[in-house]
Amino acid sequence: MKDVITIGGKQVYPGERAEVSLSNLSFPTRTIVDIPAFVFRSKKPGPKVLFQAGMHGEEVNGVEIVRALLKREDIKSPKCGSVILVPIVNVVSFLMKTRDMPDGRDLNRCFPGSKQGSMGSRLAHDLMDNIISQIDFGVDFHTGGAKINNYPQLRCNLKETRNLELASAFAPPFILDAPYREKSLRKEAAKKGKHILVFEGGESQRFNAFSISEGINGCLRLLKSLDMIDASVEKGKSIILKTTTWTRAKESGMFRTNKKFGAFVEKDSVIGKIVSPFSEKEIFLFAHCDGFLIGINNQPIVNEGDALLNIGVE
Ligand SMILES: [Zn+2]
Repeated sequence: MKDVITIGGKQVYPGERAEVSLSNLSFPTRTIVDIPAFVFRSKKPGPKVLFQAGMHGEEVNGVEIVRALLKREDIKSPKCGSVILVPIVNVVSFLMKTRDMPDGRDLNRCFPGSKQGSMGSRLAHDLMDNIISQIDFGVDFHTGGAKINNYPQLRCNLKETRNLELASAFAPPFILDAPYREKSLRKEAAKKGKHILVFEGGESQRFNAFSISEGINGCLRLLKSLDMIDASVEKGKSIILKTTTWTRAKESGMFRTNKKFGAFVEKDSVIGKIVSPFSEKEIFLFAHCDGFLIGINNQPIVNEGDALLNIGVE
């Protein structure tokens, strides 16, 4: 059987590179929104690897990571196998600078999708049908939400040996054991035997240089470990986290942390405080356990119950 990658009706053979269209969405103004994907194939057989971003329209760090990969000649001429880049999966939400689709749906809860479903469901279907079905594995780039800053981390299923191997080759600062979520790309891809690792770095609507460089370096390390490229990239060292726990605001007020992002914190040590704008009252926040500070809420004004500091436990 001929080794061909077909996306949006366009066939890409070994040794070829092509810009293809993953999906077309049409709007009432006759505007057609096209979702570009880029395919780079070596003549030599090897893994088919996907790097995609922008599943949530306001998560820009991943878009910048995939854009940086798209500029590189070594990525565009892999020594073996194929690289598929999708800088922005959810182009519509990117245009609107929103997380969700125009109908309010989270695209990452629309998988596996259907041809006759909502716009999100159709887009999910096209991604599964056009790309996921043809790859071996991939990385899906995300960030924390508004004001929630995630220290660079890969989320994967540690029970799956291949997941852990791929994550270890990517070598981000933290690898997190994360259960599959219903109707997510990661879960639906796993059902088809495709490994999708989810990278989280930084917060939405804001570039974070450290997360971007960790994301780029991780992709280079992963491709280098597969002997697909010869990039010179510094070695990564990952800490594996089994679980995470949020510390929430005990009272409303103004919040700040005294800890360095990514640092180890000891159980019962002070990791932040909430002050009242109207009194001298100061509420101290303590770590529930030993662990690493992998998520911080950068919102200075918080309400009781808000998630403030996320500790990852080894
Ligand atoms: Zn996201």
